[in-house]
Amino acid sequence: MRYGAPMDCLIIGAGSAGATAAVYLASKGLKVVVVDKRPRARSGARWINGVEDTLFEELDLGVVPEGVFAHTARRFVITTLEGSARSVVERPGTHAVHMRALNKWLIEFAEREGATFRFECEAAVGPWDGAEREVTLNGRRSRVPLVIDATGFRLPEDRGDFSPQHDACTAYQATYRIDDRAAAGRWLEKKRIEPGDTLSIASVEGGWSVLNVMVDPRLETVEVLTGTMFREHLRTGVQVARDFLRENPWIGKRRYGGGRMIPLRPLTESFVDDGMMYVGDCVGQVFPQHGSGVAAGMRAAAMAAEVGAAAVQLGDTRASNLWSYNSDWQRTRGAVHAFYQPIRYVTSSFTPEQSRAMISAGLIGGKGLRAALAAEVAPVDLSVLPRAVLHVAELAPMLPRLISTLGLSQGVYRHYRSYPKRGPVGDYDAWLSRARMLMRQARNLSLEP
Ligand SMILES: Cc1cc2nc3c(=O)[nH]c(=O)nc-3n(C[C@H](O)[C@H](O)[C@H](O)COP(=O)(O)OP(=O)(O)OC[C@H]3O[C@@H](n4cnc5c(N)ncnc54)[C@H](O)[C@@H]3O)c2cc1C
Repeated sequence: MRYGAPMDCLIIGAGSAGATAAVYLASKGLKVVVVDKRPRARSGARWINGVEDTLFEELDLGVVPEGVFAHTARRFVITTLEGSARSVVERPGTHAVHMRALNKWLIEFAEREGATFRFECEAAVGPWDGAEREVTLNGRRSRVPLVIDATGFRLPEDRGDFSPQHDACTAYQATYRIDDRAAAGRWLEKKRIEPGDTLSIASVEGGWSVLNVMVDPRLETVEVLTGTMFREHLRTGVQVARDFLRENPWIGKRRYGGGRMIPLRPLTESFVDDGMMYVGDCVGQVFPQHGSGVAAGMRAAAMAAEVGAAAVQLGDTRASNLWSYNSDWQRTRGAVHAFYQPIRYVTSSFTPEQSRAMISAGLIGGKGLRAALAAEVAPVDLSVLPRAVLHVAELAPMLPRLISTLGLSQGVYRHYRSYPKRGPVGDYDAWLSRARMLMRQARNLSLEP
């Protein structure tokens, strides 16, 4: 099919979210065209990402090719820069995934289901005419009943309370050759970790920032992941990685990797419009506590495809008929993400000393950290109390904010669980203003000293 020919659905963006939507929609018999402005071999993320190990089974996509998985996480060791405080999660329940291989597999899978892909094709979305959306593909106009926007990170159109300084991070991930194995071994020993463990150095640039390092069990490669908040006085993810490489000359040439910004913002807006659905990073479907968007975007794509296909088959792709995608997402994954927004805001305001106190006291660690790694709501974990009591003097100044955070997390979770089942008119306006008010309160947690 040429993209000038009639199509049921246009997907813009062949990253993990767009390609997943293509698999599901094409397998339902829809005429699907996917466009990406980049060449075929460069669409989507090009680095290694951690995803929950339950994801692929949950999505029911069949057997995932071996080459997609880089490794399964062994131990996750969180520590601070000087290494005095640490907390360990055994088998955190995540897989490291080669995003280049995942995207390739998803694209080929969608093609086998009948989807057509056009690379080096830039799309722009035009107005809705009451039945179809106008779209422009490399300058040529076309019309389509349903557009799925999966274009990856961009600043939100409705900026609302969004500010890049509070709601986006810069991240970088790459895999390097190890040039000096003996020196790599000494580094592991000094850090008290084994090959295959992920050492996660928290608060490298204060607050919400991280440097993760994983030396592979054969001591051949090392994976480096960095993320810092997007603030002028802070080093970017790339700069943190560069400094780490300079300090560790046993690390050799880069094999692959890349970086960009990740949205961490609270999701209050609608993910549908007349003839439009949005999935993935473009609408910030990212787990806020560690900036993971692959599983979130793929799950959203599966939900959107289910609702979108039914609407196309019914011949009515108005927003009101696509709305259940909003409520399905916000009541489930959205509520979990919302739960972590107050926690993210407060942790992003921590000084390195406060992060150290939190790790030493076990408040960043244990069951809470395991749940965050698995993108689940953190349980109340009373087992941390004896350890926390030993650090009560350091924690005392932070306690009022920590207690407000827990209350607010529960409150926003409940609010998202009650996302209106119908919209965009009706209860949605009232829901939206309360959601924004709760998120403003959450943001204030990061502004207090
Ligand atoms: C360094 C780093 C590390 C990360 N680590 C993790 C991790 O461990 N776990 C995790 O889950 N997530 C991680 N993430 C986030 C994850 O990579 C993203 O959430 C995910 O890749 C987003 O997928 P997507 O399909 O929404 O967007 P993308 O992968 O960005 O795909 C969007 C596609 O749309 C195309 N496009 C954009 N505009 C147009 C247009 N107008 N016309 C045509 N095509 C267009 C682009 O070319 C691109 O190919 C990390 C991100 C970074 C930067």
